[in-house]
This record gives sequence, structure tokens and C-alpha cells, in this order.
Amino acid sequence: YQNVIVALHDVSLAVYAGEIHALLGANGAGKSTTLKAVSNLLPAERGRVTEGTVVFDGLDVARTSPAALVRHGLVQVLEGRHCFASLSVEENLITGALNRGARRSEIALGLERIYAIFPRLKARRSSLAGLVSGGEQQMTAIGRALIAHPRLLVLDEPSMGLAPIVVQEIFAQLKRLNREEGLSILVAEQNSTVALKYADRATVLDAGTSVVTGDA
Ligand code: ATP
Repeated sequence: YQNVIVALHDVSLAVYAGEIHALLGANGAGKSTTLKAVSNLLPAERGRVTEGTVVFDGLDVARTSPAALVRHGLVQVLEGRHCFASLSVEENLITGALNRGARRSEIALGLERIYAIFPRLKARRSSLAGLVSGGEQQMTAIGRALIAHPRLLVLDEPSMGLAPIVVQEIFAQLKRLNREEGLSILVAEQNSTVALKYADRATVLDAGTSVVTGDA
């Protein structure tokens, strides 16, 4: 970061097609930095990958813009939900479809699909995203990513600050999409209990280094 702070020293991990891979580690271990490297979002924070490579489906991530990565199927949900507070839940979801240049009919189908995954969002579709519950905001942020048709969904601490029952609801739906549609998922979590319950494999980060990787 900013040519001075080295957040990651030696991170190696592979996410196989069709798996749920958990990235575990304490506060500050480098989980968010790793995920931002995977989606080429570090330049937005004056950061960069100085050594090594990140490859998604044959693409060199560092040479592919985040928008192009989304069109290729790599979509990240950032830590802290980041909904557009002054747009409705439905408008937030629609923003996820715009990068593909989706037509009205495709957007309508996409919305119905997201409402089937998270029925609570249908009831809240007209509410301002800034005024719905934390769980509904997380579902909105995930729904906005899903409407872009990811093949690899990257999630940063989806459980943060949410009630356990909501966390289970979100993970159960992601697991179902993984099983039924082959959606690959890379999820960073401090809550290793919940992450390992749903993941196939996991990598543990400690102080910017991947120290263990293997079956969940
Ligand atoms: P958390 O669970 O708290 O989000 P994390 O495991 O995701 O932790 P990172 O957020 O990747 O860890 O942070 C790893 C290191 O990188 C920390 O030392 C942090 O201070 C540093 N860092 C993170 N973001 C930036 C930034 N934008 N500029 C400078 N340093 C940063």
C-alpha cells in the first residue's frame, strides 16, 4: 500500500471450479487485502501486487480491469455491505446488472431470481437500502453481485455484525447456489465455525502469509 506498507508476504491459494473456499485469519491477517488482489481492487486504495500473479480462468487479473473481471464472472462483495443508501433495495440490485448492458426483460428475470433466493428483499424492494436491517443490506449487496451472474463470487466477512440466524440463512442460500448451479465461492471470515461448516476447503492466513491450506 502506498509503496510503504507490505500487507502480504507469501500467499498462495487456489480456488477450484465449483468449490467453496474459506479464507480464515485474525483481524489484520490480510484477508481483505488478498481478496482485493483477487479482484484487482487494490489500485483504488493505492495498493498493488509487487510480486507473483493472480490468475482467473486464464486471465491475468492485474492486467484486467475490475469491470472486465465482473463481465468475465468474477464478482466481489466488499466488507461492510456498501449499499447505495439513497437508492431503494431494488435499484441497488439493478445496478449489478448494468455492467453487462442487460436489457429490461433480463433485469426483470434477474430480480425475480434474487427475490426467490432472498424473499425478504422482495418485501423490502421499495425501501431505501440505507434504512433496512443489516441482514437485509448484506442480502442486497450479495443479490447485487448475484444478478451479475458470477462464476466466482468473492465475499469479504459476510457474517460481520449480523445475527447468527441471518448468517445461517445467507450461507445456506449460497451453499444451495453452489450445489445446484456450480457457483464457486471464495469467502473471507473471522467466524471460522460458520465458514468451515459450509466450505469444502480452507486457507489460513497469519500475518500476511498463508500457513495452512486443506480440506475444511
Ligand atoms: P480485518 O478482518 O480487520 O478486515 P484482514 O485480515 O482483512 O483484517 P487487511 O484489512 O487485509 O486484513 O489488513 C492487512 C494489513 O494491511 C493491515 O496491517 C492493514 O493495516 C494494512 N492495510 C489494509 N488496508 C490498507 C490501506 N488501504 N492502506 C494501508 N494499509 C492497509
